[in-house]
Amino acid sequence: GKAASTPAKAYAKVGIEREYSTSTPCFANDKPKHYGKKEGAPCRNVRVPEEYGFKPGMLPGFENVAREHGLKTYKDVYRFSLEHNDLFWESCAKMLNWKEPFHTVQDCDLKKGKVGWFLGGKLNVSENCLDRHVAEDPNKIALLWEKDEPGTVQISYGQLLEWTCKMANTLKQARVQKGDCVCVYLPTSPMAVASMLACARIGAIHTVVFAGFSSESLRDRIQNCKAKVVITANEMIRGGKSIPLKQLVDDAVKDCPTVKTVFVEQRTKKEGRYAKHDVALTDALDAASAECAPEVLDSEDPLFVLYTSGSTGKPKGVLHTQAGYLLYAALTQKVVFNLKPGEVFGCLADIGWITGHSYVVYAPLANGITTVLFESTPNYPSPSRYWSTVERLKINHLYISPTALRSLLRHGKSHVKNHDLSSLRTLGLVGEPVNHEAWEWYYDVIGQRRCPVVDTWWQTETGGISIAPLPGDSADPIYPGMAMRPFFGIEPVVKNSEAFADHGSDQAGVLYVARPWPGMLRGIYGDEERFVETYLSEKPGCYTTGDGCVETADGYFKITGRVDDVINVSGHRLGTAEVENAIDSHGKVAESAVVSFPHLVKGEGLAAFVVLTDDYEADEHLVKDLKGLIKHSIASYAIPEEIVIVPHLPKTRSGKIMRRLLKLIAQNKNEDFGDTSTLQDPDILKPIIDAWSKTT
Ligand code: ATP
Ligand code: MG
Repeated sequence: GKAASTPAKAYAKVGIEREYSTSTPCFANDKPKHYGKKEGAPCRNVRVPEEYGFKPGMLPGFENVAREHGLKTYKDVYRFSLEHNDLFWESCAKMLNWKEPFHTVQDCDLKKGKVGWFLGGKLNVSENCLDRHVAEDPNKIALLWEKDEPGTVQISYGQLLEWTCKMANTLKQARVQKGDCVCVYLPTSPMAVASMLACARIGAIHTVVFAGFSSESLRDRIQNCKAKVVITANEMIRGGKSIPLKQLVDDAVKDCPTVKTVFVEQRTKKEGRYAKHDVALTDALDAASAECAPEVLDSEDPLFVLYTSGSTGKPKGVLHTQAGYLLYAALTQKVVFNLKPGEVFGCLADIGWITGHSYVVYAPLANGITTVLFESTPNYPSPSRYWSTVERLKINHLYISPTALRSLLRHGKSHVKNHDLSSLRTLGLVGEPVNHEAWEWYYDVIGQRRCPVVDTWWQTETGGISIAPLPGDSADPIYPGMAMRPFFGIEPVVKNSEAFADHGSDQAGVLYVARPWPGMLRGIYGDEERFVETYLSEKPGCYTTGDGCVETADGYFKITGRVDDVINVSGHRLGTAEVENAIDSHGKVAESAVVSFPHLVKGEGLAAFVVLTDDYEADEHLVKDLKGLIKHSIASYAIPEEIVIVPHLPKTRSGKIMRRLLKLIAQNKNEDFGDTSTLQDPDILKPIIDAWSKTT
């Protein structure tokens, strides 16, 4: 194709200097390497460091089986995990403490929506996350709570167990029983973690709702799961701003007759009005016993319901159960991050998202390490917050979103410079496709080219990481912005417009998973039919991800965005992420979103919404330069009809760009935006609409 051989060269062709160069190899034997489409941006080649190279010892329960069968490499074990799926999962399940062993590894029929793992087995998730570590050393640090104002509180496993038991007894007092739903509407804090684990202790189902969601969104979720109890705080402070949680709960529960008790934690001095069903949480906890025997639960008893981010429409109440979920979360964390005992895991996501459930709470605690509870925002009080937190807490593994990364990158390197980041070992990403610029900044500036970057692909529905660069075998490549390798037991397949593509045939299409795995969702809460319809009916026997994907000739998987974001321009299939990637490589661009709209001639036309870095105003050259960049790094047909500079992009509260809304704006359909309950701030649409209307 006409593509320049590196993004840096494309950049040079339009005569702009970049802050740093992507063409600098980081390992001596680097050769630029194409991935994805032939015309896609090539990139440099990073290798799996020796220390991270896969060894069967990373899967303790499986080590003996590996020895017996002579399995040594990632590739050996991956193949084995598919061919002997039951034996693989049965062995790995030894990492959990069981009250009673399971008799059947799996009983699944995806065609019928039946998913069951470790049947007959009995266990308690909170016991796996707490008691067994307390037995070893009650003083081991479980939580490092980084509050809104910089400063940290340490909580040991012993203390967390005590709080959990007190909370469990408090819930019992409020007549919460096994199978009842409890809504947790709290910021990322020890109280929230204790609430989740208390539910797990007594077999109640928790629904964590991101603290700060509007009262309508909260009401909808409470009504959907029929919660009996809400646990909240009088108010919370995030990014220096107060959010009146209790008031929002009051508005929500007016229409929720199932709610019998609201527990209120007094987080600040602010007094509020109290209704009959309100209980002061601290008083209740003080009065409760610090001992609570863990309920013996079935592997398939429900653990939690969590609503998806709502990037594409109405959120779905995804149901996860006990054993399979916990095992999958714990195992993926252990091997994808190459976890070692005593390490500090810094997943800075909010507990209101699946990333927070799996990698802030359940996996780190099941693995007995120290986990960070980050209650603030990346930019508060300054854009160096993440880096000062890494330094102070000596974080070993950092796990953040591309959005957060882009929002920090736009403020430049100066905020990173004065921080000691030498504790870092692995850099993780999750949530959206990451553009090259951000990936490279992460690798070069944050990791100092020492730390592998793991771009992990997964969903609320998958329970844990499903495709990631690690584990891989030593010296295997890691490509920027590519999730690459399926986790053990995960069988991804790509389907183009007609059929499933052969492995290694370098084709683009929709990503499916061809068999069940322990961490997958068990249903949509209260809607059996929607479960099968949404995920299992498109290709019977397969789980539909809804994401676009390329499987390269080498058998690596690259997620190209949502299926709806793959478009057809003048007969060319094009992922909007590719165009965004080219735009974002401009030094003055902070981030961008590209969407399609119906076009008379081309079938579909493109509109690009572009946000500039802090101290830059648009001038007449900018749009021309951007067009040049796109032309040289992809092709002329990929140049958008309209390039609009906007002050910000519409995002969900979990930080994902809501392209759906931009698509409507690009079609001048501004009357009905559908369900916008997960939008960060409804007021931000107006300036975008204004900017768009000036162009047309
Ligand atoms: P909804 O399903 O309600 O529209 P959502 O899909 O954004 O919301 P989540 O489950 O939080 O809700 O996000 C999962 C999605 O995030 C994936 O389907 C994928 O589109 C995107 N994603 C996650 N990780 C990656 C990644 N590493 N690379 C590319 N995309 C990713
Ligand atoms: Mg989704």
